Amino acid sequence: MIKKVYLVGAGPGDPDLITLKGRKCIKEADVLVYDRLVSQALLEERKPGCKLIYVGKENRNHVKPQDEINEILYQEAKAGKCVVRLKGGDPYVFGRGGEEGEYLYQRNIPFEVVPGVTSAIGGLAYAGIPITHREVSRSFHVITGHLKNQNEELDWEVLAKLKGTLVFLMGVTNLENITNNLIKHGMDKDTPAAMINWATTPRQRSISATLSTIYDVALEAKMTSPSLIVVGEVVSLKDTLDFYSKKPLFGKNIVITRGTGQRDDIIDKLRSLGANPISMPTIEIEEISPNNQLDQGIHNLDNYTYVVFTSINGVKIFFKRLFELGYDSRALAGLKIGAIGSNTKEAIREYGLNVDFMPTEYVGESLVSELKEEISESDKILIPRAESGRPFIVEELAKICKVDEVKTYKTVKSREDSSHIIDNLKELDSYYLLFSSPSTFKNFIEIAGQDANDLINKGRIISIGPITSRAIKDAGYPVFKQAKTYNYDGIIEMLLEDSLDE
Ligand code: SAH
Repeated sequence: MIKKVYLVGAGPGDPDLITLKGRKCIKEADVLVYDRLVSQALLEERKPGCKLIYVGKENRNHVKPQDEINEILYQEAKAGKCVVRLKGGDPYVFGRGGEEGEYLYQRNIPFEVVPGVTSAIGGLAYAGIPITHREVSRSFHVITGHLKNQNEELDWEVLAKLKGTLVFLMGVTNLENITNNLIKHGMDKDTPAAMINWATTPRQRSISATLSTIYDVALEAKMTSPSLIVVGEVVSLKDTLDFYSKKPLFGKNIVITRGTGQRDDIIDKLRSLGANPISMPTIEIEEISPNNQLDQGIHNLDNYTYVVFTSINGVKIFFKRLFELGYDSRALAGLKIGAIGSNTKEAIREYGLNVDFMPTEYVGESLVSELKEEISESDKILIPRAESGRPFIVEELAKICKVDEVKTYKTVKSREDSSHIIDNLKELDSYYLLFSSPSTFKNFIEIAGQDANDLINKGRIISIGPITSRAIKDAGYPVFKQAKTYNYDGIIEMLLEDSLDE
C-alpha cells in the first residue's frame, strides 16, 4: 500500500465488522493510532514492529486534545510511515475524521478514508432494532447528545416533530435532558425508546422503555457510556429481531491459554457463538533447528513404512523442513500416515495427503493399542514430535518394530507480557479457563504467580482430555468439565452443554 494516512473506521465493536479494506490497512500499518472504542482484537492484527499509539481517554474525562492527535498523524506520516488512524464506527460520524483530513491536506500529506459500519446503524441492528422499517419509520436522524448548552445547540422544536428514528450518540449524561426536551416540544411521551451499551460486543446490554420512563430505567440498570439512545417506533421490533444476545455463548468470558498463532480458529468460533474470548498465551512453540536427526529422517523416508504425527505443530514443522530440503509431498508416497486427532489429520490434508490411520480416541494409548494390530516386526515408524512427548508411545511401539522418534520442537513458556490480561481477569465475576495440555496449565500458574490461586478458583476449568485433567487434579484443582472428544471442538461442545444447563 502507498504510504499515507488512512482514516479507518473500525466498526462498532465486533472485530469482524470492519471492512476488508480496513483490515488490510491494519495489517500493513507502520503506526496505528487508535482510540477507546476500537476492539483489542483488531490491534492484534498489526504486523510485528508496528507502533501503537493510544489517543483515547486517559482517565475519566481527559481526552487527548484533537490538535495533538492531528500533529501525531502529521509527524508520523512526514517520517515516511504508513499511518493508520483507527476509529470506532465510521470516521466521519462524530469521529472528527474531517478535522484530521483538513489538517493533513493543509500540510500536503496524502490521506484516504476507509468508511466503517457506524454504531448508529450496526449497533442498533445487533440489539434487534432496524433503523428504518416499512410503514414504521421512513427516515433516521443521528444526533449528538453531547450538549454544552442545554437549550441552544439542538432544535428540539424540529426534532420532536420528526417521524423517523432518532439515534443519539454520546448522550448518556444528557439522557434526562434529551427526553424532557422531546416531550416538552410535543413528542408523544409513550414513544418507544431504547438504550444499548457496548453494542456488538459480548458486553452488550440493552434496555427498552418509553420516552417518559427510559431515564429511570437507565438509572436502575446503571447504563454507562458508550451507549446509543434510540427513540422511535422501530424499538418495538427489538425482541423479534434480536439475534445477538440469543447466541448460545453470548456474554460468556472464555480464557484461551494457547500460544500465538495457534488460537485464531478457536477465537473465531467462540466469537461467532457470542462469547468473549480472552487470549492469555502461556506457551510458545520453538522449532529445534538445526536438526540433524530430522534431516536424516527426511532423506531416508524410503526406509520407513509409517510416519506418525501427534500434533499440528509436528506436521507443520516436518513439512516445512521437507520442502526446505527440496522434496515435496511425493516423498511420503510409499509410507502409511498416522495422525492423532482430527485437527492433526486436517493439517496433513493441507499438504494434499490423506491419513491412513487415526485412532478412535485422541490419545497415545489408543494409538498404540490400535496401531499394534496393524504393524509387524518388519515395519519401521518415524515419529516427528515435541521434545516433551510422553515416552509411552515410542516405548510400546518399539516392542514390535523399529521406531525412530525425532524431536522437532519445544514448547516453552510464553514470553508475552500478560499483566493486563491478569488485571482484566481479576475484575471479571466469572469465566471459563480452557487448558489444552499439561504445559498450558503449568505455565498459566507460573505466569499468574501470586494471583494463580484466586484466578483459578474463580474460573471453571475445561480440560481437553485425560492427560491434561490429571495434571490439573494433581496440582489440587478441580476440573469442571473434560472434553469428550479430545480437541477444541470437544471443548466447545462442553461449553455449549454447560450453557444449556444454566
Ligand atoms: N464514529 C463512531 C461514533 C463516535 S462518537 C461511530 O460511527 O459509531 C462516540 C459515541 O458513539 C459513544 O458515546 C456512543 O454513543 C456511540 N458508540 C460507539 N460505539 C458504540 C458501541 N459499541 N455501543 C454503544 N454506543 C457506541
